[in-house]
Amino acid sequence: RYNFCAGPAALPEAVLARAQDELLDYQGRGLSVMEMSHRSNEFVAIAEQTEADLRQLLGIPSNYKVLFLQGGASLQFAMLPMNLLGHGGSGNFIQTGIWGKKALTEAKRLGFRHHVAASSEASGHTKVPAQDALQISTDAAYLHYTSNETIGGLEFDYVPQAQRSDGADVPLVCDMSSNILSGPLDVSQFGVIYAGAQKNIGPAGLTLVVVRDDLLGSAPPTIPSLFDYQQLAEAGSMVNTPPTYAWYLAGLVFQWLKDDIGGLEAMDAINRRKAQKLYAAIDASELYSNPIALANRSRMNVPFVLDDARLDNAFLKEADEAGLLNLKGHRSVGGMRASLYNAVPEEAVDALIAFMADFEQRRG
Ligand code: PLP
Repeated sequence: RYNFCAGPAALPEAVLARAQDELLDYQGRGLSVMEMSHRSNEFVAIAEQTEADLRQLLGIPSNYKVLFLQGGASLQFAMLPMNLLGHGGSGNFIQTGIWGKKALTEAKRLGFRHHVAASSEASGHTKVPAQDALQISTDAAYLHYTSNETIGGLEFDYVPQAQRSDGADVPLVCDMSSNILSGPLDVSQFGVIYAGAQKNIGPAGLTLVVVRDDLLGSAPPTIPSLFDYQQLAEAGSMVNTPPTYAWYLAGLVFQWLKDDIGGLEAMDAINRRKAQKLYAAIDASELYSNPIALANRSRMNVPFVLDDARLDNAFLKEADEAGLLNLKGHRSVGGMRASLYNAVPEEAVDALIAFMADFEQRRG
């Protein structure tokens, strides 16, 4: 069976098999990782290896801290302005869909200054705004964007450059929840990168934050210490008990990416192939369609609609019976969505394409 869930998403079979082997007895210690103190030598070794593997995969420079947190990407919507607007200024936002809007709404709700630098709303979020459409405010302290909108299936094909009109560089902050680790990345272009784990990193319950050193230390002392990047960084993400088991599983995923896949260039090639075939099948059909501009079609989340929505239920039921799981689109948009994260093998995409063609021939 193949799982196309948008999140929590499929994990690599090899990772689940290893976790199962080690479940009751981690490396002969007679304990499960779940039962270990986060301060134990065994767990500290797991935590350090996980960070080292991630640093190697993404080529994270030494002037960045990596934080392993809880609260999901959604808590970062609040922690970002709390940490980055301590000296005043506004959060600037590029709006390309539902998640980016939530990030802006949370900053607003907390009373921080905010500014929409560009939006794709006029196109129905089918095309990412161009670099030259960005209007950065003169008080901008950071520019936030969502590199891949998971629900709309809209992915940036470029990394925005954020400069104020006075020429000052503005730190770039990116929600990479649904496309981190899908291919290589130049981390040095960013001030903060964050992601909920439950798509390309591991199970739900862990949130990754990669933050440049110079952005630490400006949170006001009135916020909870668990929200302060500086304190979290100084404590190695262990101000309190971290999500130890999710952290360990993320480590297994990073090892799988390095050793079984061969790194992010190799992962990128596989992901491109998977997405290209599925979009090609959609474009060639009379029944299925996807509205996103070609350059901005997400490699991770492929939404599509059937031209007759009365067929939706039959499509989903028959797909499920054929072992193709979780193809229902997000409840806010309907239709279908196939999420093709790293752990979804190419055979799954081939099986989906064959099913879609067969369904179209029979019912289209
Ligand atoms: N940002 C993006 C792009 C997402 O896809 C999601 C969840 O699907 C979130 C944020 C929210 O993540 P969380 O549920 O971890 O708070």
